[in-house]
Amino acid sequence: MIEGLRHILFPEVCVVCRKLLEKGEHQICSTCFGDFNRYPRADAGGNALRKTILSHFGLSAVPAEAWCLYPYHRNGKLHDAMHALKYEGIFPLGTLFGRKLGELIQSTGKGAFDSIVPVPLHSLKRIERSYNQSEKIAGGVAEVLGSPLSTMCVERSIFTGSQTGLTLAARRKNMDGAFRPGRNSIKGRVLLVDDVLTTGATMVAAATTLLETGAESVAFAVVAFTEKE
Ligand SMILES: [Zn+2]
Repeated sequence: MIEGLRHILFPEVCVVCRKLLEKGEHQICSTCFGDFNRYPRADAGGNALRKTILSHFGLSAVPAEAWCLYPYHRNGKLHDAMHALKYEGIFPLGTLFGRKLGELIQSTGKGAFDSIVPVPLHSLKRIERSYNQSEKIAGGVAEVLGSPLSTMCVERSIFTGSQTGLTLAARRKNMDGAFRPGRNSIKGRVLLVDDVLTTGATMVAAATTLLETGAESVAFAVVAFTEKE
């Protein structure tokens, strides 16, 4: 009743197409969600990003397990949604995507992790944005998988700035020593979560730190993977 009244008094619009949301829809309408074009098979996105990591960083950097919901292009509806999540303060979108990612992982029967770890932002960037979008996504994943969310077990040691527009060599150099152990300890099977993966430089660097500080294994989960255009 109250929920119905709230819907009438404060109608929400889809952050992508700006149409009024139906009851039961949150942040994004079901038409837009349908237009995001998920990978056709549950393991297809993970395989695509493992292949990219292999080609850039070699076999030792490739995670044993990886999941991804969508192929990503630098325009279109998914780009608008990711932009809203990252820069427009629409952080409930992160939880929404995180839940979908958690359901994908669960559907492959491999959801038992000791910790779900978001790729951290540098503390200066976090102050500027006031939240870490990857932490919101990781929260949604943790909720579905029933595993604990662990923050502050890895942190950014240098302010790397944006990776956007950098060449691969520059991205690698940019990420050298970019992470250090955080104040919380880590052990067991870890799932590392981020929003978009392009070359994998950031996640590989964060995973290396987690493995050096006690994680047994680090699997990767991202909402979207930038395919070569
Ligand atoms: Zn829409």
